[in-house]
Parts: sequence; C-alpha cells; structure tokens
Amino acid sequence: MKKHHTNTLNRANGPVTVSFLGGLGEIGRNCTCITVDGRILLVDFGLMFPDANMPGVDLVLPDFSFLRENKDSIEACVLTHGHEDHMGGLAFLLSELSFPIYGSKLAIGLAQSRIFEFGVEDNTSFHEVSDGERLNIGPFDVEFIPVTHSVPHGFAVCIRTPQGVIFHTGDFKIDLTPVDGRKTDLGRIGSIANSEKIRLLLSDSTNAEEPGSTESEKQVGKELTAIFSENRDSRIIVTCFASHLHRIEQIANASIESGRKIAIAGRSMINNMALARKLGLISVPEWAFIDIDTIGSFDPAKLCIISTGSQGEPMSALSLMASGEHKRVKVGPGDLVILSSHAIPGNEFNVNLVIDRLYRAGAKVIHGELSKVHVSGHARRDELAIMLSICKPEYFIPIHGEYRHLVNHALVAENIGMEHENILVCEDGDVVVLSDNGIQLSGEVGSNYLYVDGIVGDIAHPVLRDRQVLAQEGVIVIVVGIEAKTGEIITGPEIITKGWIDAQDSDELLEEAKILLGNALSDSSSIGSNDYAAVRRLLRTAMGKLVATKTKRKPMIVPVVMEI
Ligand SMILES: [Zn+2]
Ligand SMILES: [Zn+2]
Repeated sequence: MKKHHTNTLNRANGPVTVSFLGGLGEIGRNCTCITVDGRILLVDFGLMFPDANMPGVDLVLPDFSFLRENKDSIEACVLTHGHEDHMGGLAFLLSELSFPIYGSKLAIGLAQSRIFEFGVEDNTSFHEVSDGERLNIGPFDVEFIPVTHSVPHGFAVCIRTPQGVIFHTGDFKIDLTPVDGRKTDLGRIGSIANSEKIRLLLSDSTNAEEPGSTESEKQVGKELTAIFSENRDSRIIVTCFASHLHRIEQIANASIESGRKIAIAGRSMINNMALARKLGLISVPEWAFIDIDTIGSFDPAKLCIISTGSQGEPMSALSLMASGEHKRVKVGPGDLVILSSHAIPGNEFNVNLVIDRLYRAGAKVIHGELSKVHVSGHARRDELAIMLSICKPEYFIPIHGEYRHLVNHALVAENIGMEHENILVCEDGDVVVLSDNGIQLSGEVGSNYLYVDGIVGDIAHPVLRDRQVLAQEGVIVIVVGIEAKTGEIITGPEIITKGWIDAQDSDELLEEAKILLGNALSDSSSIGSNDYAAVRRLLRTAMGKLVATKTKRKPMIVPVVMEI
C-alpha cells in the first residue's frame, strides 16, 4: 500500500503502528499489537492447537520476539474474549514479561486458570471491565463494546489513537436473539463511526467464505429440545466446548424439560461450570445437577451427561467413554451421544475416530452434519457486510482467518463498495503504519510458529523437522566400536532400525548393508586416524545410498562410534 491519502481531519500527530503477531494466515494464536508513543497495547495473546505435521507439539504460540525486545514498552493486554485462541498464550508470555490484563470477568476468570497453574500471576494484575466501559490505558483510550460470540461477554475494542479510531471487532456474530439477550451493539458502533469516523477496521474473517448469516444460538436450543423429547428412552450424552456457557445452559434446559438429571464429566467442564455459577452467568437451578459418581442409582433414561471432548481430545471424557476406558460412564446401546460442536481445523481426525468408536460401542450419534445441533459463533458474509457498512472505515484489514478467509473478507468489503486500495490483506509478521499520510505496510516483526512441548518450553524448528522424518521415515542406527589406541574397528557395524521397513524384509538388506559398510570402512583412510567424525560421515553416506536405491526411503541415519 503505497498510495497516500489526504485526510479531512486535521491531524498533526505521530504515527501509530499496528503489528500482527498471529492469527492472519491461520485460525489461532491471535495477537495484534498497537504502538502509540513508544507504548505497546496487545489485543489478545492466544494459542493454536498443533496439526498432524507437528508431532509431539502441545501448543503453538505467536512469535513474541518483538515483545521480548520491547519488554519495557508493553502497556497492557486487552482481551476481546475468553477463548484459548485469544488468551491461551498469556501464561507463557507472563513467564518472561510482565504487564496488566484487561478483560471481561469471564475472560479473566478463564485466563487465570493457566496463569495460576504456571505460578506467574505476580507478573500481572487483572482488571475487569464491563460492557460499554471506556478507560485510559497509558496513551490508549479503549472502549469495550459488547459483541455476541460462542462464549459469553465478548468484546469489540475501540481504540482511540492520535491517528483516529482503530476498531477491532474481536470474534463476533450478529445474533438478534442471543441466549442472554446481549446483542452485538451495532448502535454504539454506528454512533462511533458517524461521530468520530473509524480510521482502521480489523474484523473477524473466520466465516468469510460462508454465504448468508449464521443462525441464532437459540436455534440449537430448539433442536436439542426436540431431540431430547424424541429420545425419551435413551440416556443422552452431549459434548460441546466447555467455555460455551450458553450452549451448556441450553443443554441443561432441554434436560430439565425432559425430566432428566444432569451430570458433568471432564475437568474443564466442571471448572467452567463452577466459574459460571460464581459469576452468575448460568441460570440453571442447582437441584438439576447430580454428581457423576451417583449416576448408577438413576434410571439411564432420566439422565443427561454433559461432557468434555468435543474436539476428540484423546484424554477427554468423551474419548475415554468411546474407547470404554471411562471409569464411570460405559457407552452402549441405549445411549444417544450428541456432538454439539464443530471440529476445529486439525482436529477432524480425532473427532471422526471418536464418532466411529461410539457407533462401534452401539450408541446412536448425532453431530452437526446430521442435525442443527451446532451453530458457529462467527459472522458469515452478510453479517460481515453489515459490520463493514456500519463501520464505514477509511481502511480495512481482515484478521482472524486462514489466508483464504482474509482474501474473501477483502472481497466482501470490495463488493459493498470499499476502494480496493483501502483494503490491506496482511499476514502474520506484517507491520502497518497509520500516519497523517495514510496507511503503509512498513517492515516486519518475527512471526514464526513458536512450538511448545510439555514443560520444556519452545522447541526449535530442527527438532520438529527431526520428528517429522522419524514419524514418516523411521530411523537407522549404525554402531561401530573402535579401539582407542590403534583406531581399528573391533565391533560392528551393528545396525538397529525402528519404523523403517518390516523386520522380515530387512534381514537380507541388513546383511548386505553390514558387508557394504564393513568394506567401506576397510577401504577408508580415516580408519586408524582416530577421526571419528569422518567415520560417522562415511557410515551415513554409504548407508544413505544403499537405503535410497533399495527402498526409495530417507530414514534418519544415526551413526554411533564407540571408543573401546
Ligand atoms: Zn472466539
Ligand atoms: Zn478466535
């Protein structure tokens, strides 16, 4: 974006920088940084779940080298809402940096569990904000505007800067009949757009490829009620996101209406229900719930179990039930399992596995593709067009999506009349500068995937590459023992393989390899010279050639030279 713009507003103000650390090019690890007068405001700091190409990786975070380099300049982090892709990375960030966090009671409550688990709460302070609240955070004037989403208390954030209003929608949909009556506050957004003008709009692109509008969450409630009454003879097990409190409330209401008691299975579901009760966010009566340990004393047809595991997570309650390993719930004929959810990209395999296992166990299964037991929390094209029309931004950058979603969101903006040159399709790591002269792409910040593995912290790319090779090709270890004084080979080469080819087929090949390697070693001038690195190189090259010609594979080859 090189084009310069003349502004009607008279601004003789410093530039404002917007840096995208994550979420532009993938669904997950959302983080946008806004810099004013050398101070940085983070909007969200989320995580992403690994896909099948990231063996052994637990989580993926935004690359925060930019924040590490500017650690004394971080003013705060404001949370749009309490989903993992928006706040799940904070505990890791707070292990190195310190800054206050602003968000709804619920977003903070949900973020706190990992922050306390990591013991890094002393590096932050929590500031609860309510709907419509406007406050100064350092040089930032921030207003929190209600939006409807698949977790209660979502916010759009309106950030007033010396370069005008930057409006970040957060994750939103336009649901005119939300479960809690708390609608996306289009009136307030329109009022800001009309009276102050929105200089830059950053808007959720998740469903930019989907036509029309997302159905109301209340539709799910109706569907569930109908299913519950049609299946009076079945025990019902329902899974959904543990943070989707409105969904849980609707499941609970359908249970009560059909005369069922409710039991909760899974740690995060139990924790979130306790948090929701504490915050007064769920209005289901306490008497409707029973302890999961007591389900044996109830008629199964009078039970509903609300469970974790909507993403097929292998250790979740539903996965354990599906594979017959859950201590308290044995799934079988007579059970109806409802997956009131949609698999996040990357989780499809695990979800399909769970569904298959449930069928094998004899259960009846209903999921989002068979019935309307799930609706998205994100706006589709018509809603995105409404948001763009109300905001009437001078500039627009689609955020929160894979690249295809961002491009399609940009097309929505063009379709409703925005100038092509006022729309920037940015990617992770891009930095844009808003100034009196307009908006310009200006440099980059680190945007690599930051892989988190167990408690070790981030693993490097070479480790991941090794794991991919090991997972796809296997490993061959070649061991030789060398006499320390003479440098003569006295044992080996012994060859050990894992995950390469079937043992039976490999016997002959391994014999051939041993002879080949033995010959290569005896022909080599390295032998006797104590140059072990050269011996390792020689083993690796000779074995590599043989393996490539005979098997057309490229397993990892690990030569080991032992001094004896
Ligand atoms: Zn969300
Ligand atoms: Zn999100």
